[in-house]
Amino acid sequence: MCNSVQHNHAQRACQTQPKRVDRSPEKAYRVETVKGADGSEQVLSVKDAGREIRQDEVVLQSTPFGLDCAEGGTDEVYLERYVAESALSEKEQAKYTEKLLQGKPEWEGAEVRTLINQGPTENRIDLTIVGDGYTEAEKARFFSDARRLTDDMFVGQTFASYLPLFNVHAVFVPSNESGLTDVERKDTALGLYRSPQGSKRGVMPGNRGAIERALNLAPDTDYPILVANDDFYGGLGGRYAITTRSHNSGTMVLRHELGHNFGRVGEEYDGGQVYRGANHSSSKNVPWTQWMDGEGKVHEAKSLARGYPWQNLKEGPVNVDFNVPEGDEKGPMQIGIDISSVGWETPGDVEIMVDGKPQKYEGVYTEDRSFFRLKDAQSLPAGKHRITITEKNADGDNVLASVRVNAYPADYDFTADRVGGYPSFDAYGRHVGYRPTHESCLMRNMRSTEFCSVDKENMWHEFLNRVDLIDEVKVTPVMGKDGKVERLISVETPDLEGLSVRWFGEEKSEDGSTREVQLNHLQGQSQWIAHDGEDAGKYRVEVSFAND
Ligand SMILES: [Zn+2]
Ligand SMILES: [Zn+2]
Repeated sequence: MCNSVQHNHAQRACQTQPKRVDRSPEKAYRVETVKGADGSEQVLSVKDAGREIRQDEVVLQSTPFGLDCAEGGTDEVYLERYVAESALSEKEQAKYTEKLLQGKPEWEGAEVRTLINQGPTENRIDLTIVGDGYTEAEKARFFSDARRLTDDMFVGQTFASYLPLFNVHAVFVPSNESGLTDVERKDTALGLYRSPQGSKRGVMPGNRGAIERALNLAPDTDYPILVANDDFYGGLGGRYAITTRSHNSGTMVLRHELGHNFGRVGEEYDGGQVYRGANHSSSKNVPWTQWMDGEGKVHEAKSLARGYPWQNLKEGPVNVDFNVPEGDEKGPMQIGIDISSVGWETPGDVEIMVDGKPQKYEGVYTEDRSFFRLKDAQSLPAGKHRITITEKNADGDNVLASVRVNAYPADYDFTADRVGGYPSFDAYGRHVGYRPTHESCLMRNMRSTEFCSVDKENMWHEFLNRVDLIDEVKVTPVMGKDGKVERLISVETPDLEGLSVRWFGEEKSEDGSTREVQLNHLQGQSQWIAHDGEDAGKYRVEVSFAND
């Protein structure tokens, strides 16, 4: 089984002495725009890309401006790209230069802290967390929430191995009122609000101008994160990863939304809107065979029923009817029933019945968003069945968010993390393609803290589009023992495990021509001393990265 990620940055490493390619590297800008359905374009930001590119442009992000995993996205598209200077029209140049020269905004009472600093902003991925609905008196609460969310992501296993590539900044902007606009309007700095009103689902970006200004207070931002000062589930993806300070679900929402943004991928769970990118295959010929054990298997299943009723059960019970198909020669179909909720604090809150018989269900009981699975309903005979979900404890907050019923053939492999092809069904029950694992990935299972191998590999590639493995090559004069000036040659890199450093120098042949040779005695060294005279010449350093 081949399970190593190879990302060779030989070409980037050549910046000090470029190899001949079709087009020489060129100064680039990082441009963020929002394109409207009517063709209009709003420029959000223009920055020096801090790197040279060899194409007209490199697209880093292209996503609906606002994207709800279950509801779909807005017509407006957020686009982030590197654009080569020569690829800009005169009009664009004028427009972009104006943005480029824009200074830092002023914001009274604002405070910016860098929580994680792994290197220079131009060669790190900068996450910026901005809080909304925190008053001046709640500043300490905001910074402690930002710290907690950061630790959950980077100290926990989810993004820990990528940490050396990241900086994290937290931006506090004072709100006049504490909280998040819902049924009751709150006067907050960024104007975030719940939608639909009274639900625990979407949290929408309110005042886009204010949000962009707040982000501009940070040293740099590659991925913005907005945190609402509210204790319950809610969020949104797209241009901003939006979440709440909820101890139960804040991190869960954030890592899933960042998974979309970091990897430029869609869902792996059933019932979503967007299926695209590295973790999705529309055909049975899945492209991630390098992660499969021997002959990886492509599985099939059927979506029998699905829905996002988001119904408060005080309005009455919800019935879901479904028809179990006949099995095959290997045995009867196995049924999987998944339910998600808000406000189910105890096992006594809600009763779930299948064909009138009460069912045990497993999950975490909380007043916040949660996910449950029916354990004993796996072997239902072929034919018609009904799930009934009823409020038992009428505390008024028992919401049924979603129900999904799938049927799996007798030989379906339920191993959580085995890589193969597993069928995905969208919000309309359509079989849209295949995902890499049955259950292990947090793009499918919100409670999981890990991505599947395919997503992990893909994120390395995406991140290394933004981060060069070489921060800087330095030549520093130092005084040698005998009083002679010598030179310390050093290469600075992100602090990643799995880097290898190789140095190359020039060798003169007898006919006077030179050729490049690898300097084996310097292999793996990040610095060495060049002696005057004998070591004079041209050198090149190459840094590559491999990880398993
Ligand atoms: Zn999603
Ligand atoms: Zn995945």
